[in-house]
Amino acid sequence: MNIILLGLPGGGKGTQARFITEKFGIPQISTGDMLRDAVTNKTDLGLKAKEYMDAGKLVPDDLVIKIVEERLKRDDCKDGFILDGFPRTLLQAEALDKILTRMSKKIDYVINIDVPAEDIVKRLTSRRICKKCGNIYNLLSNPPKIDGKCDICGGELYQREDDKEETVRRRLQVYKEDTEPLIMYYKSKGVLKTIDGRKDIDDVKNLIERTISKV
Ligand SMILES: [Zn+2]
Repeated sequence: MNIILLGLPGGGKGTQARFITEKFGIPQISTGDMLRDAVTNKTDLGLKAKEYMDAGKLVPDDLVIKIVEERLKRDDCKDGFILDGFPRTLLQAEALDKILTRMSKKIDYVINIDVPAEDIVKRLTSRRICKKCGNIYNLLSNPPKIDGKCDICGGELYQREDDKEETVRRRLQVYKEDTEPLIMYYKSKGVLKTIDGRKDIDDVKNLIERTISKV
């Protein structure tokens, strides 16, 4: 069973991807891991990608697509895979369809974990990290016992630049603009399953399990 996971960054996608991997024994394939793999294994494509990464540039679409194709042809994908973070654009989605057609495969489900942007802003901007030991807190779900101080080492807590409201909102906006056409694309193909990501982690797991068990 071949699955794509969509959802806002910070919406619990990573947790659910790990769950599907364990439950159904299919690999999780993320763009980051794939690029790192290709670079580590020094494949031709990996070496090309490394040139861009070393220069601090984005790896171009056509190269990413080739690396995806190489990855999907590996043995561990024969019973299925979960793609996480790819495709990111409509162009990549169309390229993926072509790859899969060549392999006589298709996407069975696109699972969209739907969490309102405001919930994610609240969740992410509540994150604090200890300057000394790196322990992570969340002022809403896992606050420190003493305001601003680490429970473990007493170190000062701070907010990462990435977790500041303006940064979070900008990131979500970019994601939304990229992903909305993808959602429409997969909806029109009849494979989109939207799951309410505001529920408990376990409820979301159950919903996903029920959805993909029908394959
Ligand atoms: Zn600490």
